[in-house]
Order: sequence, then structure tokens, then C-alpha cells
Amino acid sequence: MITDSRQITEHFHSTEFKCQHCGRIKIEEELVNKMEQLFAKLHASKCIISSGYRCKDYDIQIGGFAGRHSEGLAADCVYYDEDGNIIPSKIVICAAYDLGVFNGIANIDGNYVHLDNRKGSTYRGDEPKGNSSYWTNPYAYFGVSKDEVRIYTKEEVSNSDVNVYYRVQTQKHGWLPEVKNLEDYAGWEDSPIIGVAIKVDNGSLKYRVHIKDGEWLPYVNGYNINDIINGYAGDGRVIDAIEVYYNTPDSIRPYKKAKYKVNSYDWQYDNEKGNGQDGYAGAFGVNATKFQIVIE
Ligand SMILES: [Zn+2]
Ligand SMILES: [Zn+2]
Repeated sequence: MITDSRQITEHFHSTEFKCQHCGRIKIEEELVNKMEQLFAKLHASKCIISSGYRCKDYDIQIGGFAGRHSEGLAADCVYYDEDGNIIPSKIVICAAYDLGVFNGIANIDGNYVHLDNRKGSTYRGDEPKGNSSYWTNPYAYFGVSKDEVRIYTKEEVSNSDVNVYYRVQTQKHGWLPEVKNLEDYAGWEDSPIIGVAIKVDNGSLKYRVHIKDGEWLPYVNGYNINDIINGYAGDGRVIDAIEVYYNTPDSIRPYKKAKYKVNSYDWQYDNEKGNGQDGYAGAFGVNATKFQIVIE
């Protein structure tokens, strides 16, 4: 525990954490190191501490219960961005959560956050609502997107390749072997396709098929030829059109699309319409016999 006046890290001096009623200093170095890590992650320009150590007398005086602040394990603070503007607490909280080093994280008022280094338990608070834990994932709870946090963290999004795996069931041969990306096409000897199964190794997709002289079957998103409900699209009747939509995960930008074709018709992107696209691949009334897909 640090109890003297000194610079602890590049951006934090121990006196910033002193008790505002008696001036005594008591702050844990590990907590301050973690606050410095968060400072770097946010590309912050400054961090103002409104309350660090609170001696027991003071904490009880202001309605507390001599908790973490009285142990020198907590700080209430506000981080500022490079332009000197306050970084909203929900952003700071998501960045702190991603950093994964704070046992206690709470929103105080939309600007200030409570950070603590409590031992043996976690606290995920929203203090205007009380002193319990209120969330497990702050992105969902506070309605924050990864993109909003990246404005501050400037973290690169991976533009990794997404692989798609697929197979078709034909009238004549049953389920054919799996095809990866454009290494081959799915289909054989122009036998009509009656089932389609597709999966990706990053993100997710939904797909459906249209029955020749019939209707669209429900969307599915699974990949299991033994699961007739959600494992593949098709019901044994001949397929003439296929629609696929790729959902790009937060970890990948720019957004990607499913690019796919049936027989020798033009490529279709997701469920787009216009520019020669119909929203699906294939042609109503014409047997689908070849299928190819890639995620780009
Ligand atoms: Zn005091
Ligand atoms: Zn606090």
C-alpha cells in the first residue's frame, strides 16, 4: 500500500487518491497500474479522480460502509480523450471489461466510473440503480457497439478470411462430399439438387431454398444433414433457387457478404436486389444442379 506522496505511474500521483476529509494517503499500487493500463488502452489525455481513498470515518460520514475505498482498493474517476472531452462511462466500462484486469467496475453517473481491485469477488455495477452487480456484458447492458469503443482504443479489426463449407444432396447421389470456398463446386452429373447445407468458420449465416414450382422453405442456420429442422435447407423436392445471407461478426470489418451462384447464372451477393441481382441465385422453374459460394 502506498501511503506517501509520490508519482506512482506516468499519469497518476499518490496525492490524487488522498482522503478528501483528512488528507491521508492509502492506495494500492496494483490498482493504479491497472488504471494506467486503461489510460493507455483508451488513448486518454488525462484522468481525474473524484474519490480515491476514504478513511472509515469519512466513508461512513458520506453514507458508505467503509468498503473498498476505505481499503485503498478503489477509485472513482473520469477519463478524457485526446481532444479533452470526457469519455462516456459506458465506453470506459467496456474498455475496462475488455482489458480484463478489474474485479470491480461500475457506472457512477454516465461520466464517472468506479474501478476497484477487490480480492476474491467481482462487482459489475450501475450505481444509480444501487450497490448490486447489474450486468455481465457491458456492451449488451449499456447498448454499446465494438465500433464505438474502437473510436477510442483505435484497435485494428482483423480482416481475416472467412471460410465457407458446403455440400448438396442430389436426387441421384444423395449427400455429396463437402466443398470449401471455390475449390470446387457442389453438384454432380447435373442431377437436381434437393438439399443444401452451408457453414462458415467465423460469423454466421442464414439460408433457404426455393422448391421448383413451389415455395420458399423456412430459413435455417445450422449445418447437420441429420437435423431436418435446422441442419440443412430442403425437403426432398427439387430446388431451383437458393438465398444466403452472411452476418459479419464485430471482429471483422469491413463487412463481408456471401457471394454465391447456382448453375452458370451470375453471382449473387447476400440477398441484394438490383444491378442484375434478384435477391437469390438460380431461376424459378429451372433445376439447380451446381452450387458455389465464397465469403468476400
Ligand atoms: Zn479521512
Ligand atoms: Zn467508488
